[in-house]
Amino acid sequence: MSRIVILMYHSISLEQHDKRFSCNPALFEQHMLFLKQQGFNFVSFNVIADYLEHNIEPPEKSVIITFDDGFEDNYTNAWPILKEYEIPATIFLVSHLMGKTGEWLKKARSDNVKKMMSWANALEMANSGIDFGGHTSTHVKLTDIGLNEAKQEIAGCKKTIEHHLGREIDVFAYPYGLYSDDIIQSVAQAGFKMACSTRPGFNSKVMDKLLLRRIEVSGTDSVTVLKRKIIFGTNESSIMLPLKYYLSQILKRLKLS
Ligand SMILES: [Zn+2]
Repeated sequence: MSRIVILMYHSISLEQHDKRFSCNPALFEQHMLFLKQQGFNFVSFNVIADYLEHNIEPPEKSVIITFDDGFEDNYTNAWPILKEYEIPATIFLVSHLMGKTGEWLKKARSDNVKKMMSWANALEMANSGIDFGGHTSTHVKLTDIGLNEAKQEIAGCKKTIEHHLGREIDVFAYPYGLYSDDIIQSVAQAGFKMACSTRPGFNSKVMDKLLLRRIEVSGTDSVTVLKRKIIFGTNESSIMLPLKYYLSQILKRLKLS
């Protein structure tokens, strides 16, 4: 089986207080065009479910586009581009903050508090082929709270999204990439089939369906950097990366011989 690349975006906006989490729309379009030109097949998480449940091989060069948090700009800025190029995507929603603002951003990072999309935005996209996943009810650090509270954050979020969008929600994404064995188990118990971590890398035959790997794309990643990240399955954007990689391969070979 060829490896599946899952890319993680956050905000798609011209307002870029924190470029790690915000990519400007023109650059996002360049990224999508680049992937298309490189012959990537844009797929949804269904291909992973089909592979895990029915052993159906995913298409060669599969890529899944994901957005964490559910910012309103995913609707206003990313969706028109996704529509234009017929690219499927999955947006992970913070269910209690829909139509409100991303309050957790005040504590978490220097970024301005952004507006979250409304249920009407999400429903419109859901009816046009965009998938949605769960990202807890309030964007908590699941490992910092009691297990019962964490279970409510996970299961409650699934229920709320399913209620509003009228469809089953299969995929979860751990806020801040934080999880523990208990949290992973709670995600499965809540009925999620798959979950995304923020661990970089590719997903191949031996993938862990509750800790899928994703490559983080930031607003400073040129097409060249994106290309490098996808080739090496890493979040590192350094130009030294290919050099380090080949050096480690050479060292490995030297040790073996
Ligand atoms: Zn998040």
